[in-house]
Amino acid sequence: MHNPVPARLSPNERPVMLVIIDTEEEFAWDRPFDRASTGTGSIASQPLMHQRVFDEFGIVPTYVIDWPVATTAESVAVLRGMMDEGRCEIGTHLHPWVSPPHDEEVSRFNSYAGNLPRQLEYDKLRLLTEAITRSFGRAPVAFKAGRYGLGAHTAKSIAALGYRIDASVVPYTSFIHDDGPDFSAFDEHPYRFEAGGRTLLELPVTTGYAGWLRSHGPALYALAQQPLARTARLGGILARSGALERIRLSPEVATGAEMRRLSTALHRDGCQVFSLTYHSPSMAPGHTPYVRDAADLERFIATVRDYCAWFRDELGGQFMSMTQLEARLAAS
Ligand SMILES: [Zn+2]
Repeated sequence: MHNPVPARLSPNERPVMLVIIDTEEEFAWDRPFDRASTGTGSIASQPLMHQRVFDEFGIVPTYVIDWPVATTAESVAVLRGMMDEGRCEIGTHLHPWVSPPHDEEVSRFNSYAGNLPRQLEYDKLRLLTEAITRSFGRAPVAFKAGRYGLGAHTAKSIAALGYRIDASVVPYTSFIHDDGPDFSAFDEHPYRFEAGGRTLLELPVTTGYAGWLRSHGPALYALAQQPLARTARLGGILARSGALERIRLSPEVATGAEMRRLSTALHRDGCQVFSLTYHSPSMAPGHTPYVRDAADLERFIATVRDYCAWFRDELGGQFMSMTQLEARLAAS
């Protein structure tokens, strides 16, 4: 990444919330990656969140979609119908283990596309981009790496394929223990950067710290990642004591109260853009660890709904699509 420059809204702009949905096949989250897991039946359940939440708030989420979704006619029909009505945008999400060309061994290491040889990662990105363009009649401009798996060449490759926005950075977080990327040095603020002679906009996944030790968050997180501290579950001890919680803005891994605590803390520190995220299979019970049954789904939808109402009415925020935010940032 070269010359990152902060991308700020004008100071009097109300805080902005985006919704980005990792839109993908159903797979067993506790089992090894499997090239044969390509079912996309849960895409039919996505409109429910629009009926129950998004339409009322005027929220236009971005579905970042992967190969099985982009190449299954029934799934395309559901999403393209909403896109044509102006109710969503379509971006790109690469799960390399189910995205051709299938030249690599399926493994945990190779599940981070950024770990693949440069040409193979590029070829997967190119074929996926072409499939989405064919299915939706327009070229995607926003990218989110599967498993947040950015590598040394990813930015140049997506820039060459016409992308203008990346949403793969998870601030304050390292996946090194799993052979993934290290975002420990990144924070929650959007920025622009140069790649392959073009300028890209980065919109990080909203992740951060709440609790009275939050100013020490990055240092303590690094400490908690040390082998001895992992064994002692230092991170869990800090979170349970209320001293320091690392929270992701997602109804899958955070409660409504946690998402409000995080947003309040970040907003106080000048954060302008809040990016809420979840995985499409969570909208149909039984596919992700987060939504096991109908009661979980009701809680899931209610958590999103309550947060959106709080964001608008208590934090004084507004909702934008990714490309609306891109335009607004460009204007300020
Ligand atoms: Zn994914």
